[in-house]
Amino acid sequence: MRIVDLHCDTISLLSEKEGSLYCNAGHFDIKRALESKLALQFFALFSMPADCNTSMRQILKQIDKFYLEMDKNSEYLFLARDYNDINKGLDSGKIACLLHLEGAEALGTDEEMLRILYRLGLRSIGLTWNNRNLLADGVAEGDQAGGLSLQGRQVLDEMSKLGIILDLSHISEKSFFDALAYYDKPVLVSHANARALCNHRRNLNDSQLRALAINGGVIGINQVADFVKEDSPTVDDLLDHIVYIADLIGVEHIGLGSDFDGADTIVMKGIEDYSKWESLLSARSFTQEEIEKILGLNALRVIESVLNYDA
Ligand SMILES: [Zn+2]
Repeated sequence: MRIVDLHCDTISLLSEKEGSLYCNAGHFDIKRALESKLALQFFALFSMPADCNTSMRQILKQIDKFYLEMDKNSEYLFLARDYNDINKGLDSGKIACLLHLEGAEALGTDEEMLRILYRLGLRSIGLTWNNRNLLADGVAEGDQAGGLSLQGRQVLDEMSKLGIILDLSHISEKSFFDALAYYDKPVLVSHANARALCNHRRNLNDSQLRALAINGGVIGINQVADFVKEDSPTVDDLLDHIVYIADLIGVEHIGLGSDFDGADTIVMKGIEDYSKWESLLSARSFTQEEIEKILGLNALRVIESVLNYDA
């Protein structure tokens, strides 16, 4: 079983709090992730939207924290730079770490910044957080939200060339469809659920889910309570999202995107509960083959189709 999680905020949280990635009181640490047999984790870099210089400074500090932790924990972790690394590493018992930028304010309009971040290991980008920036509009712009800017298109061209995954979480609906029409590879929506079951602006409506399926992409199921159900959500309610999306677009487009350490209230305890996924999904009548796809193989399919084989 290869378990992949498409989103956590642990590195950005720890860079504020000076905590340890190996063992901490949050939702995710290496000690518990190893026990849950996690194979690959996306680590988000995040700064509240600001001008590009302020934002880049914060992002670089988080990359420093990420590398300090990678060095300290090199016996448990390795950096996912290309698909060849991931393939070799998956059988070593170590956890692959994939670096993600949540909201691309730091890039400004400079493609040089994108290439530098790529050299530092960045392999996934969400163009926006909730707000508008130079590349696209985020969901918080509401009904007036616009789509992808010319600069946004240029960034997508460069991302495709370099082999950087496009993540459409947090983006406005218009930008979502613009980006799907423009980007030429399968995408991720790393941490979101189904709007039909929980009316949160960050969840995807049915037409977005259908478009994601046509693209060959994957949605990572989000653990944050507000995204699962309005009143006292449970793990069972989270499973309802998986069943709903599987019925609508097929099991091939579902993955896990915990959002660990991105919010206080989530429906599982933390990464330690990931050891329960197999039995939880099997209790909802998913076959072993389907469970393997949901827990990791679908996500790995997208990663393989975007990252270079040998960077
Ligand atoms: Zn997020």
